Amino acid sequence: MSIEFEEIVTQLTSLEKNEVTKNKIQTPIEIIPILLKRVSKENVKELVSLLKQSALPSICSETDDEIEKLFEQIDKDTNLLFNLEIQKKIQEFIEKRFERDKQVVIQRTSDISKFVSLMGQYLNDAISSSGSGSKHVLDIKEKIQSIDLSKDGVKGLESLQNELVDAASLIEEEMNTVSDKLQTGKSKVEELEEKVTILEKELTKTKNESMKDHLTGLLTRRAYNDEIKKIESSYKRHNTQYAVVFFDLDYFKQVNDTYGHDCGDVILSTFGKILEKNTRDHDIVGRYGGEEFVAIVHFNLDRELLQYLKRIKIIVTSNNFKYKDHEIKVTFSAGVALRPDHQSYESTIQKSDILLYEAKENGRNQIRLENGKTI
Ligand code: GH3
Ligand code: MG
Ligand code: MG
Repeated sequence: MSIEFEEIVTQLTSLEKNEVTKNKIQTPIEIIPILLKRVSKENVKELVSLLKQSALPSICSETDDEIEKLFEQIDKDTNLLFNLEIQKKIQEFIEKRFERDKQVVIQRTSDISKFVSLMGQYLNDAISSSGSGSKHVLDIKEKIQSIDLSKDGVKGLESLQNELVDAASLIEEEMNTVSDKLQTGKSKVEELEEKVTILEKELTKTKNESMKDHLTGLLTRRAYNDEIKKIESSYKRHNTQYAVVFFDLDYFKQVNDTYGHDCGDVILSTFGKILEKNTRDHDIVGRYGGEEFVAIVHFNLDRELLQYLKRIKIIVTSNNFKYKDHEIKVTFSAGVALRPDHQSYESTIQKSDILLYEAKENGRNQIRLENGKTI
């Protein structure tokens, strides 16, 4: 036993001396817990609170909970602070906290690199994105937002996250502008499409016009040839019999010579109208050449055909053509061949041409049929 120890013991209270004896204390260090009992409860409480504040908060919230529980225990009995077991526990917690916090920091670092890579991906997509890509970009933005950094109060990372989200929003805005531009481009395309439609219509109109003879409004020879193909195929499939009627105005050269070419035009136009007016919808009339016309007339009975031919003849011969103050008599000759009596359309029209020629030969102003009948 040292003199120093003896001296300390003499300064103790009798109660404390009893405790030294009872616990067989022999060193000054061992006296410390006995002396510490002199420390006021308030002071110890203050010390506990200070210790607790320096231990908390840790980055890892789990550790916080454990430390909190331990200090709850110490709060109830502040002397526990002088208990070696408890002191060891505090020591352990501090080490554990250090380890865990290190792990959290590693985790945070990986969050940041995740951020950076997502941001890179985001930028890439934003740059190469069209309308459909923006959905994908929005997904990435959501991912960035969903990384829960604020949970542990890491303010720095939180603000980094906010900055990145702001940047993403800016890019998104940019992309909307691009989409707007695309939209404008789209309406320009639509405008062009409209123009194309108009042009197509005009083209069709022009084509239709080219199908009509400008003087008479009847089908041109080309359009007539197109139409006859349809009529012929209908004849072959449904046996819709028809007659080919070839008309030629008589002595028309003379009309021109007497009244002038303009007068001839008016007469041609008027004759064309007469044919047109008397032709049914499914029949066709074309201007085949200068003063030659051809009509395709469908019929079930010969009688219908004859009626048609007679009607045309009566109209033409019983009226005068008017040009200025001239009243001009015009006649025509025609040849009529029936499709059922021939092998083909070609031989039918050929026959009607021959019959027309015969009508001319026979004195003109007559319609000649194959059976020798004339009108
Ligand atoms: P035919 O009775 O033998 O048919 O005698 P034609 O004088 O009618 O026949 P020709 O073939 O000798 O003469 C046809 C005339 O029709 C000649 C031509 O000047 C005229 N002609 C042809 N096309 C037009 C036209 O578009 N306008 C006018 N005004 N005359 C035309
Ligand atoms: Mg002629
Ligand atoms: Mg003629």
